[in-house]
Amino acid sequence: MKIDILTLFPEMFTPLKTSIIGRAVESGKLEINIHDIRDYTLDKHKKCDDTPFGGGAGMVMMPQPISSAIEFIDPEHKAKRVFLSPRGRVFNQKIVEEYSTLENLLLLCGHYEGVDQRVIDLYIDEELSVGDYVLTGGEIPAMAVTDAVSRYVEGVINKESLSQESFSNGLLEYPQYTRPQEFKGMKVPEVLTSGNHGEVDKWRRKQSELITRKNRPDLLNKED
Ligand code: SAM
Repeated sequence: MKIDILTLFPEMFTPLKTSIIGRAVESGKLEINIHDIRDYTLDKHKKCDDTPFGGGAGMVMMPQPISSAIEFIDPEHKAKRVFLSPRGRVFNQKIVEEYSTLENLLLLCGHYEGVDQRVIDLYIDEELSVGDYVLTGGEIPAMAVTDAVSRYVEGVINKESLSQESFSNGLLEYPQYTRPQEFKGMKVPEVLTSGNHGEVDKWRRKQSELITRKNRPDLLNKED
């Protein structure tokens, strides 16, 4: 899978070079390209934002640099083009799975007050939000989307991890423990060291249900 990220702040994406995602890129399972929108401006001072028509606070990202960047990076519109935006469909595990089947994903990061609406109307397939709050830019949302989607790309993470984790079966994950068996007077639940896999599975299922009921009862009533 190839993910192209368009941003005014490419230096923010260092985290994608580390850990599991970094290794997936290094081994060629995944291609992640970070593009600096400023490289595409025709303005001699490299200006990419301007004041909003109609007045109001802040600056708006101008259409020309973004338009030129998208037309250069995805000339045949092979990618699903996504604009990270608080106005968008709210990101969840279903969307992660949906996006992970794509060959090409293009993520446009807004900054300041956002981007000129004509860029969205002309080029964007979907606006996507990472939650009902406002961040300073789309860079952290783009990293969240890239990370979550990359985990579902073949070979990036072992399949068993994906099938056992939160949201994979409509429930949140059960508690996990590792060594030592006793820490600050707290013992690991006995069943987990019993060697009885059937009982371990039953305990985990029960814990998943309890945690989901407590923290996210909405998930239990979901139809899809
Ligand atoms: N004026 C915009 C509004 O009220 O909807 C908010 C602009 S925000 C300060 C700047 C940029 O951050 C947005 O264009 C978007 O790319 C990104 N952003 C902020 N919050 C986001 C969220 N919850 N999900 C996805 N992107 C977000």
